[in-house]
Parts: sequence; structure tokens; C-alpha cells
Amino acid sequence: MTASRIDGKAFAARLRERVGAMAAEFAKQAGRKAGLAVVLVGDDPASQVYVGSKGKATLAANMESFEHRLPDDTGEAQLLALVEQLNNDDAVDGILVQLPLPDHLDEQAIISAISPDKDVDGFHVINAGRLSVGQNGFVPCTPLGCMMLLTDRLGDLSGLEAVVIGRSNIVGKPMAQLLVDANATVTIAHSRTKDLPAVVKRADIVVAAVGRPEMVKAEWLKPGATVIDVGINRLPPAEGEAKGRLVGDVAFGEASEVASAITPVPGGVGPMTIAVLLRNTLVAAYRNEGLTVPDSL
Ligand code: NDP
Repeated sequence: MTASRIDGKAFAARLRERVGAMAAEFAKQAGRKAGLAVVLVGDDPASQVYVGSKGKATLAANMESFEHRLPDDTGEAQLLALVEQLNNDDAVDGILVQLPLPDHLDEQAIISAISPDKDVDGFHVINAGRLSVGQNGFVPCTPLGCMMLLTDRLGDLSGLEAVVIGRSNIVGKPMAQLLVDANATVTIAHSRTKDLPAVVKRADIVVAAVGRPEMVKAEWLKPGATVIDVGINRLPPAEGEAKGRLVGDVAFGEASEVASAITPVPGGVGPMTIAVLLRNTLVAAYRNEGLTVPDSL
């Protein structure tokens, strides 16, 4: 069997286009554009790139982008004051503080200061709680994007066995919650799991969110499984390469021989994250204006 590739890049492009069209409609209805504020502290090169591409994607989706780049030595009080200002700014529907923050800043304290109704990353404990009890809040972008790819591919997930490898607050746990809500039977595996290959072997759906290059091998997979690879790992450069290759947490080549469908890295889950961020921002905008959120979002 050769698995079909789940083309997250194409799916994300369609989602961004749809969100862009709906954002134009929103602007007509509300008399203003939806707005996303992104806060970056320090000059981490990867974060600079992420923030730049989020800003561009926001503008391309007919929304306002507000970028706040602060120096590395920004104090907690100063950052909290900015978050408070954004919480009170009616032009701002979504607030994203780019992580990781420099060591002297307490990430939890900053995230907790964001209004839960503007927390489009879904990292605030209120939104984690809402997800856990089935209330409308904001779901972290990466697992929500994985879920969109899964339901697009498989339709109804009822009764399917799902194994999520990884239990972080931003990927593994919300992913497992979304799968349970979709009536899958879910196992969460992590670094203390015994006999991980045997656990993974049960799964109709495998979501790998570990951060270990090509850890999940073909022989771990049940034939016909659907595999979502969240991992983004850069290998050390091979001879003659300036930069090492990017790989996922799944050994893509061999796994493609066993799975029925699999996301590539890059071009799978990665592009979904920004697309879902734009979607969440538009949802926030509808809610903040007291308008009904369209079902198709
Ligand atoms: P974390 O480091 O927060 O969590 C990793 C999880 O993997 C932990 O729960 C850990 O277990 C588990 N783990 C580590 N080693 C093993 C092992 N040998 N066997 C089984 N489980 C193990 O990572 P994140 O959740 O933030 O991210 C995971 C991956 O996804 C990373 O590669 C990251 O770059 C990528 N990512 C990609 C995104 C995208 O847009 N595509 C967005 C976010 C993340 P324990 O809890 O026991 O330590």
C-alpha cells in the first residue's frame, strides 16, 4: 500500500481564502475589519520569521494586523500593560503573544492576562477549561488544524481508535480532547508509556506531537492507519548542505508504505496553524461584535 499524502498546504490555502472572503463580509457588516495583534519580545530569529508571516497572512485575509515588537529586556509590568491596552482596544479581536518569551518573563502570567475572548491561540486556562467541558471558546490552532485534516479525510471518527503521542498543553492534550469529542476512543501516550510501538499498533488514527525526528516507524503502524505528523525537527546538515532537512516525528518514507494517509513534513500540519489562527481571529471578531458566527467558519 502507498499512502495518500494529506496536503495540508493546499487545505490551508483554501481555508485562508475562505476566511479572507468571510472577513471581507464581516468588514461590511461590522463597519470595521477584524484585527489581530501579535506581540514579540526579543529578537529570536525563528520568532521574527513567524511574526512576519503571521502579519502578512493577516493582511492577505482582509484583516488588520497590529505588530508590537519589544526589546529583549522588556519587563513584566511593561508587557502586562501592553496586553491590558490591547484587551481594551476595540479594533483588536485577537491577541497573540509569540512564545517562547525571554527567560525573565513568566509565560503563564502573561497568557493569563490576555482576555479569554481575545485569546485566539487558545492557551488561556479559561479556554482550556471551556474545551474540556464542551463550551465555545478558542481551541489551540495546531490541534484544531489536525482535526480539520482528519475529518476532511475520514468523515465521521466515531468509534475509531486514536493514539496521540505527546501530552503538551498546546498540542497533545487539546488534540486528545477534540478526538474524544468526535467520539473516537483515545489513548494519550508520552515519554513514560510502556511499549509505545504496541500502543500505536492499535490506532486507526495516530497523531505524533513529540519533537523527536522520525521516531515513529512503519512497523509500529496498523496497516491502513491515518497518520498526522505534528513534529517539526531539523536534522543536522549532511555533507554539502548549509542547513539540515526538516523532518517530522514519523519516518515518512517507510510509514507511507503502511498507512493509508499521512501528512508530510513540511507541507502538512505546519501551514494549517496560521490558517486556523486567522479563522479563530475572525470568530473572535464576530463574537466581539455580538454577531452570529457563520457555521461555515
Ligand atoms: P513538548 O516538548 O511540549 O511535548 C512533547 C511530548 O512528547 C511530551 O508530552 C513528551 O512526554 C512526549 N515525548 C517525548 N519523548 C517521547 C518519547 N520518546 N516517547 C513518547 N513520548 C515522548 O512539544 P510540543 O507538544 O510543543 O510539540 C511537539 C512537536 O510538534 C515539536 O516537534 C514541535 O516543533 C511541533 N509543533 C509543530 C507545530 C506546527 O505548527 N506544526 C506547532 C506546535 C508544535 P512527557 O510529557 O512525558 O515529557
